[in-house]
Amino acid sequence: MKRLLIYGLGRSGQGLLEFLAPDMEEIWVTDDAPFDADELSNRYKTKITAYHEDMPIDLVLLSPGVPLTHPKVQKWMAEGVPLQSELDFAAEQLPGAIIAISGTNGKSTTTAWCAHILGVPAAGNIGIPLSSKLRKRALLDWNVLEVSSFQLEFSHSLHPKLAALLNITPDHINWHGTMDRYIAAKKRLYTQMDARDSLLLGADSAILMDVMKDETLPCEIRYFSLFKEVEKGAFLKGEELWLREDRDIFLLHRDELSLKGDHNVANALAAASLSYSAGAKVHTIQRGLKDFPGLKHRYEVLGSAQGRRFINDSKATNPESTLPALKSAKVPTIILLGGMSKGVDYDTLFKEHHPCLKAIVCYGESGPTVYQSAKKHGVEKISLANDLEEAVELAMHLSEEGDDILLSPSSASWDAYASFEERGEHFRELFRRLGK
Ligand code: ADP
Repeated sequence: MKRLLIYGLGRSGQGLLEFLAPDMEEIWVTDDAPFDADELSNRYKTKITAYHEDMPIDLVLLSPGVPLTHPKVQKWMAEGVPLQSELDFAAEQLPGAIIAISGTNGKSTTTAWCAHILGVPAAGNIGIPLSSKLRKRALLDWNVLEVSSFQLEFSHSLHPKLAALLNITPDHINWHGTMDRYIAAKKRLYTQMDARDSLLLGADSAILMDVMKDETLPCEIRYFSLFKEVEKGAFLKGEELWLREDRDIFLLHRDELSLKGDHNVANALAAASLSYSAGAKVHTIQRGLKDFPGLKHRYEVLGSAQGRRFINDSKATNPESTLPALKSAKVPTIILLGGMSKGVDYDTLFKEHHPCLKAIVCYGESGPTVYQSAKKHGVEKISLANDLEEAVELAMHLSEEGDDILLSPSSASWDAYASFEERGEHFRELFRRLGK
């Protein structure tokens, strides 16, 4: 029997253990954080052994987030030990077809929306590893996956039947080193696709279109666009969403969509086109576009406190994903910006004038950088806070009844939180404490 080593005991690693344990007499595991192999052995009812460097291993399964540059990974690569990502391994176990969705922004929303229309669970980078409940997933016709560039860096065998690249903007440059490597990672999404498969591309993303213009792809190509009618795929015509296949198919008016904002019209177009390609009926797509409840931490309206409406957009971890939130503003808005910088430029946020932007409160590690950028572009009301709690206090002072207080930080959360979810929950707690 193969000697398998699982590197990383987070949710993906645990999913792999759950799947493998019933068929394996022994599994090797390792993690940078301490763990209890005996407890794991009891939990998964097979022998689970902590890995030591001199143990011979046939295959290492890597959790997402383990970087290629990690010394252990480098050592295995130098020694020629086969390495496989959790995603590739899990995908290989599934007889059903795969829909893989990637891009810089809108991945989770589009993935969840497409899964909602098709009536299947979403998985992958959305927070539910593909390896979790893998035995049950093997019964599904379609597996709808959000795939991040981190996961793609280490993907060699993923073969989606349908895939979407929504957009590309500079993001995660710290992790990937350069924009070129980031783009190279995204391209791995469709490397295995062939003539029977279909790739959907966001036609409004200039960088993506530039990257794709010299590519000769063996698979079918579809596009989606807010601004122009595409040859095949989905588009917005006036205020209406349409599909274009062998014929034009009217879907619905944009006001009927359950989520608001131009970015969500784009996400809806992508979800609709993918679902149609997967065989969903038009009325099922229409219903799913109308009743999708949306995801937490993405422009999530929490309610009102002392006359101010609070919006939690903690998932906006780069300037491009904050822009749609600013553009959606209809009333005077105080925006909370900051966190851990991902090495990107905040100028994008302030280059255009946002008529509803009343004040900015910068906080956290990237706070001073955001402050300088806003100042440079002539934003008048800018305050600097140490942390989110202080930022909310300042925002309350700067605002009046009827205003919106928007957390859309344009930065990662890791300077103060374990995840964007934890940051969003802290914001929710601060909102609750203010009372009605
Ligand atoms: P991802 O999974 O790619 O990070 P999400 O769907 O979780 O994307 O959305 C994250 C944030 O990005 C949201 O808070 C929203 O403000 C913004 N966003 C969502 N869809 C888009 C899009 N199509 N284009 C640009 N920004 C978007």
